[in-house]
Amino acid sequence: MAKRDPKRNPSRPARPSRPSRPRPAAPGESAGRRQHSSHGPRANTKRASLPPRKSKNKNKPTELPQPELTLGELLHPPFRIGHGYDLHRLEPLAPAGSGRPFILGGVLIDPAGTFGRGPVAHSDGDVLLHAITDALLGAIGQHDIGQLFPDNAPENDGRDSADFLLEAVRRVHAAGYRVGNLDCTVILEKPKLSPHKSSIRGKLASWLAVPEAMVNLKGKTHEKVDAVGESRAVEAHVVVLLIRSVA
Ligand SMILES: [Zn+2]
Repeated sequence: MAKRDPKRNPSRPARPSRPSRPRPAAPGESAGRRQHSSHGPRANTKRASLPPRKSKNKNKPTELPQPELTLGELLHPPFRIGHGYDLHRLEPLAPAGSGRPFILGGVLIDPAGTFGRGPVAHSDGDVLLHAITDALLGAIGQHDIGQLFPDNAPENDGRDSADFLLEAVRRVHAAGYRVGNLDCTVILEKPKLSPHKSSIRGKLASWLAVPEAMVNLKGKTHEKVDAVGESRAVEAHVVVLLIRSVA
């Protein structure tokens, strides 16, 4: 072994002290010390450099800056985000089916009944208001719409979904937040949403106590595929941002 070293490192003179250095690295031995003392094969250098790297990684978590947050700030952050989703089956309007009049975002979107189908629900079946309600409740970490307003409770039969939304808004305010903005996507094949967008946004802004500019509403089709695309269902996705209203 001693003869190999000068061939691999011709520029380094062989030192008499080399054979006396034991090869296994001591756990606490530093990289610098190992490199200085090792003038043999590269394997020695690699072996010597591993322990210090490990110790650096171990130290990393303690080197990270610790956030200086009070318990109040941790439990009451300046912003909270919530996501809501809902889907309702669409059926022919009663008495031919179980469909209710098609209300979406608090607006009757098929007033003449030409589409002829509506959401099946215990309440009025407003898929958008249900998704917004769940987004608000989710943002403050409270239950969901089904827990607050069970779909087997007689008082919720045919109930105006604005009641659910307003209760969620009340809870948001009670938790020390206000609505910042929300982004909604409604997916349905028919009827067209565009003629009703403005009035829906106006209602939402009023219920949520925000300017209309903070309420975005997008309508999409499902390209005629699956239940939504075949007008057998309607669905809504909502993301909402809450802003802390108290210090
Ligand atoms: Zn629903």
